[in-house]
Amino acid sequence: MTHLASPAIVLRRRDYGDFDLILTVLTRDYGIYTLIAKAAKKSTKRFPGILEPFATLRIVCRQGRGKGMQVLEEATLENSFGSSRSDILKLAYASYWCELIALWLHEGQARPDVYELLAYVLNALNQDGTPVKLLSLLFQMRFVGQEGLRPVLERCSCCQIEIEKLAQQQFCIDLRQGGIVCHQCPAPDATQLRLGKGTLKQLLWMSQGDLSMARRVRFSPAALTEATHFLEAFVPYHIGRAPKSLLFLHQIRGQMEH
Ligand SMILES: [Zn+2]
Repeated sequence: MTHLASPAIVLRRRDYGDFDLILTVLTRDYGIYTLIAKAAKKSTKRFPGILEPFATLRIVCRQGRGKGMQVLEEATLENSFGSSRSDILKLAYASYWCELIALWLHEGQARPDVYELLAYVLNALNQDGTPVKLLSLLFQMRFVGQEGLRPVLERCSCCQIEIEKLAQQQFCIDLRQGGIVCHQCPAPDATQLRLGKGTLKQLLWMSQGDLSMARRVRFSPAALTEATHFLEAFVPYHIGRAPKSLLFLHQIRGQMEH
């Protein structure tokens, strides 16, 4: 493709030499792309402070010489991620979501559904109201659902018995099986992850239907914590990569909670 024009979210930004920036963006129409923004560090006239991580832009690029990367020609700001930029916890969550996408999707694979999901949670993060932990559950459940990796939560992932037919209220997780296991099935090794029946139902409810309805699910603090631990283990396990930003998120959250 010689020219590329699309709304795009900046997933990652790094310096290139003294003058240029390299951006990894998720475009709505063409998937992930790596772009070079020439002289963006030297002159702020062309892209005045807008090439920042998590910003939503409308971009126009052209193919670089030979097989070089796309060169950013124009960028206009649609959503700056504004007030969230000074909130380190929000930055940590946004970094985690963006890294998951960058690790999982191949370059140039058009995924408007992933774009819409990320745009939605970044926008919601920017508005006050929905707790960031809840948004992260929403993002992770929808993301794995879209990728065909949704956890098995409505039945035992081993013997397939439905949770409604079981009296037990707490369920172990078997990451390898891809979901919960009942008390009758062999206990999974290593993992200490547990989910209560109520939390399972809330996660299932959150995984479908309208996003603005799904983000209104109310979790108790204990349910929020166990669901968070579960998904932050489940998602990296099933995409087969360990996001560096998750370590940072754990550090920041640890400092804030203690
Ligand atoms: Zn079972």
